[in-house]
Amino acid sequence: MEIGEQEKLVRLLAEQENAARLLVRRDLELTRANEQLHKLDEAKSGFIMVVAHQLRTPLSGIKWTLNLLINGDVGVVPTPQKTLLMKAYESNERMIGLVNDMLDADRIDSGKMRYAPAPIQLADVLDNVLFELLPQANAKEVVVRITPTKVEVPKVHADPEKMRAVFQNLLDNAIKYSRRNGTIEVGMSPEGENAVRVWVIDTGIGIPNEQKQYIFERFFRARNAVKEETDGSGLGLFIVKNIVEKHGGRIWFKSIEGQGSTFYFTIPIV
Ligand code: ADP
Repeated sequence: MEIGEQEKLVRLLAEQENAARLLVRRDLELTRANEQLHKLDEAKSGFIMVVAHQLRTPLSGIKWTLNLLINGDVGVVPTPQKTLLMKAYESNERMIGLVNDMLDADRIDSGKMRYAPAPIQLADVLDNVLFELLPQANAKEVVVRITPTKVEVPKVHADPEKMRAVFQNLLDNAIKYSRRNGTIEVGMSPEGENAVRVWVIDTGIGIPNEQKQYIFERFFRARNAVKEETDGSGLGLFIVKNIVEKHGGRIWFKSIEGQGSTFYFTIPIV
């Protein structure tokens, strides 16, 4: 090998060594940045949990106090004042719902959501939720119908509280995004041999085509929903999808903007 070539080779080797050292350093820096991000994420998560937990006690206190006043347990309250108290009660309920959604979303992220599945009849859960949501539907003059079942619907293997949250979110959305005098239909039937399928049909504002892909994402709210109904966190469907899938089920929807939406989900049977 000639002297010139030897020098070139030595220079190249030195450059290569430098590049390798640089790569190791970058790798180390990236690992550290990643660890830092993890720590920040955990801190954020911890912060949310603390705030949400701390909010729960005063919110329950407010609920309890308003209940006493509304029920006349501390003296008769004239109707105009009672109407205002009931408005305060509803707002407080929304706040409780939001805090619970935040806690649930955080539990999902950290894998700390606990499930206690048992053989349950989904129709019982639905009846319960419907009873609670009826005043909300009535206030909007929205009619909620239950599709009559043609064949017997088997029990499913599911956590009743989590199923409650699923029905509550889907029906709450159906009412919220319905127009005055709208109709909602909810029903269920066996899906093949191994599951039960549930549907919630509404004739509300629908979902814009170009935004359908984001509907189950955390904090996502479609433009028409933001415009027509300012109240909402965009956490509900993220939680619902997670719960359904954790049970081994599936969730999907069909929707035409301006005409309505149908949400479906399946849950495996016992
Ligand atoms: P939000 O608190 O905004 O209702 P969700 O996670 O429950 O949050 O829903 C996410 C978004 O999906 C809503 O903001 C809305 O844009 C859309 N959406 C959900 N359900 C319906 C429905 N029944 N009709 C029309 N849009 C819906």
